[in-house]
Amino acid sequence: MEEDKIVLKAAKKLYNQKLVAGTSGNISMRKIGSIDNSFFITPSSLPYDTMVEGDIVEIDGNGVTKNLSQKPSSEWKMHLAIYKKYPNINAIVHTHSPFATSFAVTRQDIPLILIEMKPFLGGDIKVAPFKPAGSTELGDVILPYLEDRNSCLLANHGTISCGKNMDEAYTASEYVEDAAKIYYYAKTSGTPIILE
Ligand code: 13P
Ligand code: ZN
Repeated sequence: MEEDKIVLKAAKKLYNQKLVAGTSGNISMRKIGSIDNSFFITPSSLPYDTMVEGDIVEIDGNGVTKNLSQKPSSEWKMHLAIYKKYPNINAIVHTHSPFATSFAVTRQDIPLILIEMKPFLGGDIKVAPFKPAGSTELGDVILPYLEDRNSCLLANHGTISCGKNMDEAYTASEYVEDAAKIYYYAKTSGTPIILE
């Protein structure tokens, strides 16, 4: 499957699984074989249910857009910062999924509470400091959090998950939400025990 098809399919799934509401969130994938960090990303502020392949925007490593019919996601700088820093990352999923985002809002890390968190996320999930949406600073501030993790929380904003392919990045975004939901329920029903 080509990159724009993969991005579109994941974007629709994200919306249908309610990991985003409205037009929030965005998804990208590195252009296969690209040596200049080119990638394909969802368009900005376009409803997911009517989004088509031709709406997916290609951007090169200098931030120059190829698709002139749609604006790229306003978070393209954050995606580019990740592709530049981590050559092994080929797909990125940004959500505003509700349980995880509520921990981002209260700025609480999600500790290692489930066995799946280790293989799929790399361990516990930390909250990166607040920076305005769409800013270069947001891209800069999250990079250390992705050094040995697939995901982190963006303070008062949402989640970001990465992987060597779209399946890995997407699954990580599902596990972040799952861990946040279970941690929330565990905290309301008792005292969560943290794994080593
Ligand atoms: P875009 O529609 O521009 O991708 O913005 C959504 C979002 O989540 C901003 O953080
Ligand atoms: Zn967002």
